[in-house]
Parts: sequence; C-alpha cells; structure tokens
Amino acid sequence: MEARTPRGFHDVLPDEVRRWQFIEDNARRIFDLYGFSEIRIPVLEFTEIFARSLGTTTDIVEKEMYTFTDRDGSSITLRPEGTAGVVRAFVENSMHAKAPVSKLWYGGMMFRHERPQKGRYRGFYQIGAELLGPEDPASDAELITMVWKFLESTGLSERLTLEISSLGDNNCRPQYKEKLVAYFEPQSEKLCPDCRRRLGTNPLRILDCKEDGCKKTAAGAPKMIDNLCPDCSAHFEAVENYLENAGVPYTINPKIVRGLDYYTRTVFEVTTNELGSQNAIAAGGRYDGLVEELGGPKTPAVGFATGMERLVLLHEKAHPGGFQKEVAVFVAHLGEGARTAAFKLTSALRDRGVSAEMEYGGKSLKSQLKRADKSGARYTFIIGEDELSRGKVKLRRMETSTEEEVDIELAPSLSF
Ligand code: ATP
Ligand code: MG
Repeated sequence: MEARTPRGFHDVLPDEVRRWQFIEDNARRIFDLYGFSEIRIPVLEFTEIFARSLGTTTDIVEKEMYTFTDRDGSSITLRPEGTAGVVRAFVENSMHAKAPVSKLWYGGMMFRHERPQKGRYRGFYQIGAELLGPEDPASDAELITMVWKFLESTGLSERLTLEISSLGDNNCRPQYKEKLVAYFEPQSEKLCPDCRRRLGTNPLRILDCKEDGCKKTAAGAPKMIDNLCPDCSAHFEAVENYLENAGVPYTINPKIVRGLDYYTRTVFEVTTNELGSQNAIAAGGRYDGLVEELGGPKTPAVGFATGMERLVLLHEKAHPGGFQKEVAVFVAHLGEGARTAAFKLTSALRDRGVSAEMEYGGKSLKSQLKRADKSGARYTFIIGEDELSRGKVKLRRMETSTEEEVDIELAPSLSF
C-alpha cells in the first residue's frame, strides 16, 4: 500500500505547527479581550443545516460538500464552514434565553470538494467568531475591529487590505436584484453558461464570477451600495463611522458579494496580493435572518472566518527563516558517570520551568555542541568526570563561547 493522504488533505508538521500556535495564541488573546468565549461543535451536521443556511444555489452547496447517507438513512455533511453549526448550536441550546448577547469563537477543520492548489485545500482549518443578539452597527464595527486587531497582532496586517460593503436587506435587495436582471438580460450572450443560469436563480452571484466575459460585463452593473434603503444606508454609515473612530483602515468595495446567501447588510473581506489567486484571508458579515431560518427566534448577528493555512503561508513569507522550537539550556556530558548527572540536572532544570535538552548517545563534545547550537540554546552545561569529582560543571554561553565553572548543586537555580 501507499501511505498518503487523499488529494486536497495535508499534514501540518511540527515546525509549521509552531507558526499555527503563534497565530492561534494571538487569536485567543485578542478574542478574549473582546469578550468572546470558545465553542466546540461537531465536525458534521445534518445536510439540511448547510443547505438552508448557505443557500441551495451557492457553489458550496451545489458542488463542494462532502455528503453521505448515514446508516439510518439521514443525510449528513462534513461542515464546509462554521457559522451554520454555531447558529444550530445557539438555537438547539436556547442560548438566546440565557443572555441578550452571545459572543462565540471557534476553530476547526472545514471540508470543501474544491480543486486543490497552493492555499486551497479540501480539508482546511478556519478560525471564526459570531456575535449574536445586537442589530446595532456598533457590533458590526466591534467584530471587524477585532478581526483587524487580531491580524495586526500576528504582524501580518501590513500585507493585508480590509474592504467593506453592504448587501442591503429584504427591503432593498429584491428591487436591486430586479435592476441587475434588467441590466444583464439584454447582454446575456456575453455571460458564461453558469451565469446565464444564475440570471434566473441568483443574479448577485454573477458579480462574483471569475470568468473574464462575466467580469467585463459586470463592470458596468448597478451597485447594491447605491441602491440601499434608508435604514441599510444609515446602518452602513454608522459602521464606517465607528471603524474610523477605532482607527481601522478600510476601503469600500461595492463588488463584494460573498459566496453564501445568508448575508445581509455589512459584508467585509480581508485580502492579500502575496498569495496569487488564493488572495482571500478572512471574510464575514451580518446575517440577520439565519437564526430564524434555523428555527430560533429573530436574532440579528454578525460573524467572520479566517483561513489558517493562508495566514500561515503569509507568515512563512514574512519570516522565511523558520520558526523552530528553541530550548533555553542544553546539557552536554562526557563519560558514563557524567551521563547520570546530566540526566538529573536536565530534570531539575525542567522542574524549575527552564526548557532543557540533553544529549543521548556517547557523542564527542564537538558534535554535542553542534546539536546544542542547532537547538537554539543560549547556554550549555558541560559535565565532565573531572569537574564532577569536584562538584562542578562548566557553563558555556553560546553567543560568546565563554565558559565558567559553577557548583552543580546551584546549577538548576541560575537564571537563564
Ligand atoms: P475563496 O474565494 O478563496 O474560495 P471563500 O470566499 O470561499 O474563499 P470563505 O467561505 O469566506 O472563503 O471562508 C473564509 C476563509 O477561509 C477564506 O477567506 C480563506 O482564507 C479560507 N478558505 C476558504 N476556502 C478554503 C480552501 N479551500 N482552502 C483553504 N482555505 C480556504
Ligand atoms: Mg471558495
């Protein structure tokens, strides 16, 4: 047999995991500052949860879901995104009755049957957050600010652009859709077959099509942002105002459509131009109708998700030198008796919270120092039989290659 993952799935090896942990630690810290708590939900749901939430005419539901029939005949789908499951959990656990506002974040694997490329996988990891309860534009701005501060905390925000727009609501979007159809219909022969079909099912999707002909035709299309009803328009202005006050740099991009049908009003995307066509780093928006759609009480909400693999790829570009685990102290030893003393000293160092590594086999001092160097240790203890008989060990400062003798009894309690 051949030991390999299915196409589109990948392992994350330890050196890379450290980059992940760096980003995850920052996410946790920043989300905590904004009052978000972690929620852990199943990796699969009844298919209907996704079909209802995402919309049956979206790319994900039409062609990207991993769906199977369970033994009892029910249709199950591996989650392609996190929001639907969080909202299902919100409804199932009556979270609306426990607090007027729920702030939840999650992290986990998502599954989409896409054509794999660098930065695009069939199994990928998202971190996201949902703020359920308020309709206040301050909550949109709070969430967007949190996303930006999180990205800033990773040191990657200089490589990123934040764009926002509004998709209107049930009041103004239907009329806008009619305008779109009236615009595209007379020139439908310029559209790809998918978009000709979308004209009848989901005309907004045409604005998101990557085909050249469709892009060109869509360039002159009416913009949702120019067709907002007074309420949506006021909401959008307020979001802008809050973002400006928070010092969050954004631009307006009226072309943002988003790939999911549940969005209303505010939508936003964070992109980079350093990862080729996999330029989307994070995205989100308001979804005021979704909780009701899944059987809960009317609950406005706003959320976002970010793709970890793409953030990690960007982090690798920013810090190509590797992101290894470094130990503080290395313990080298020469001779049989010295090995036991080395084992004891290494344990004692760890007991005091100092990360320490010792050499295993009976290698030469030169090769032990080489390994010490590679480990990133700032200090190396060198234990030889001769010093040991006097109760001493050598302490070598790696940066300067200077050595001094210290009492072996005092060695674990030095500061490193
Ligand atoms: P794209 O336009 O690249 O397909 P998307 O709009 O489908 O992205 P969302 O559904 O908004 O993406 O998911 C949020 C984030 O998850 C994206 O911005 C991206 O960083 C990441 N993401 C989405 N699909 C994949 C994938 N197949 N592989 C890796 N990351 C992904
Ligand atoms: Mg996609």
